[in-house]
Amino acid sequence: MTRAGPGAEIVRENPARLGETVGRVPVADAADVDRAVRAAEAAQRDWRDVPAAERAEALRRAAAAVESAGGTAVLLARESGKPLADCEGEIRFAAAYLRWVAGHAPAAYADREVDDAAGRLLLRHRPYGVVAAITPWNAPVILALLKVGPALAAGNAAVVKPSPLAPLAVARVLESFPRDLVHVVHGGAGTGRALVAHPRVHRVAFTGGAEAARDIGAAAASAITPSVLELGGNDPVVLLDDARLDDAAMDRLVMASFATAGQVCMAAKRVYVPRSRFADVRDAYVAAAARTIVLGDPLDAGTTVGPVISADAARRVRGLVTGAARRGASATALGAVRVDLARGHFVRPALVTGAGDDDPVVAGEQFGPVVPLLPYDGEDEVLARANAGELGLGASVWSADEDRAFAFARGFEAGFTFVNTHNRTGMSLRAPFGGVKRSGHGREYGTEGLLEYVQTCAVHAPAAFRAGGAGMGAGAYPS
Ligand code: NAD
Repeated sequence: MTRAGPGAEIVRENPARLGETVGRVPVADAADVDRAVRAAEAAQRDWRDVPAAERAEALRRAAAAVESAGGTAVLLARESGKPLADCEGEIRFAAAYLRWVAGHAPAAYADREVDDAAGRLLLRHRPYGVVAAITPWNAPVILALLKVGPALAAGNAAVVKPSPLAPLAVARVLESFPRDLVHVVHGGAGTGRALVAHPRVHRVAFTGGAEAARDIGAAAASAITPSVLELGGNDPVVLLDDARLDDAAMDRLVMASFATAGQVCMAAKRVYVPRSRFADVRDAYVAAAARTIVLGDPLDAGTTVGPVISADAARRVRGLVTGAARRGASATALGAVRVDLARGHFVRPALVTGAGDDDPVVAGEQFGPVVPLLPYDGEDEVLARANAGELGLGASVWSADEDRAFAFARGFEAGFTFVNTHNRTGMSLRAPFGGVKRSGHGREYGTEGLLEYVQTCAVHAPAAFRAGGAGMGAGAYPS
């Protein structure tokens, strides 16, 4: 809930316990955004000249502070509805990412120089200045640090605008960084727009949905500010006919769809199964869900799936299931329930069978605890169905033969393909992540993720004009 007007604030309610206030943050207006950007710009002027090794050391100190700050995971669980173990894992992973950046950034950003028969060429990596980071609520800590970590390592400063749906834990985590270099402005679309359009912002990094991306991309383009856009996906899972689907694999597959109540950009969002194995896989899926899914309060031990983020999200996801059922599909409720569903925005996890490819539960990003299981007859056919649609974030292929899986993966129109797993368990700090098609552009993680925060600048002395050089006709092209 946002209270408008002077002294406006965001009041965050626990999605698992309606009526329980978790915390409040002030809403930043355009003047607050301006102050934050200018303060960041002033601090960046000194920071850009700090040696890369010292900047990396500052990130290591921030990683230690992120991990040792007590109570952050509980705060994240209470504001986002994610199970406590997930929140603890996200914070540990975010700290590990900062250490990875500290270890790799100095080499990635180092000058490169060649001096040979063609002349002398120096390539240096220049930071942008002030980076605007606009982040969603579903993994607020890691998604902010994926921007702030490399931005600072490269010599930039950052202004972060977290989602109003989970602003509290990330704001606390960002206190682990030098205060003058990382600023936080809270609010919704209005605050985000003021930040993106600010003339002293020189790089925009956004993670979120398509609607906001269009607005942000247009505002950034009109200021000639380059942007990274990390957007949604509708990840297909293709189980090849030789996929080894023991209990551990099935448990992994289920949680790839239902972790964070399905509200993950790279969740397994539609599962394609060879028709000959369909009934067995469906039964194994329901059994795996009975082992792995416990719908409950995020703070209760044993809970693996919490509520969805809001009443709107709950309505939308239930509508997808009832709509598919109206069109002839069947929905099977999954897992155990250990909570009064009316106490929060709880949606019973469901497996949908019998849905058509153009049903919204298959064709769009459901972003909730429901997944369709779909039979297929041939590899070309399933690849075409997997690639249908405008989104191309993640995908996975499952096979007992790794070479076969890698060969199949080449056909996916996706930025990241997981093999024999999907979602978090398939991530790697060194592997660049990001979408193709309408899932966005730019990359996070890996060296590619570091290079998003610098521009390569060249200094060149052609050999032709060095002492003893052959010279060149005025206006000629070099050979
Ligand atoms: P959202 O787009 O509603 O909001 C994201 C952020 O943008 C928030 O901070 C919001 O306040 C801000 N915002 C919204 N409209 C804006 C505008 N017009 N101008 C400036 N800022 C604006 O997304 P959400 O609901 O928080 O997150 C869910 C979406 O994010 C899903 O589609 C999901 O797939 C995607 N996502 C993608 C990745 C990835 O790495 N590709 C990761 C996580 C989530």
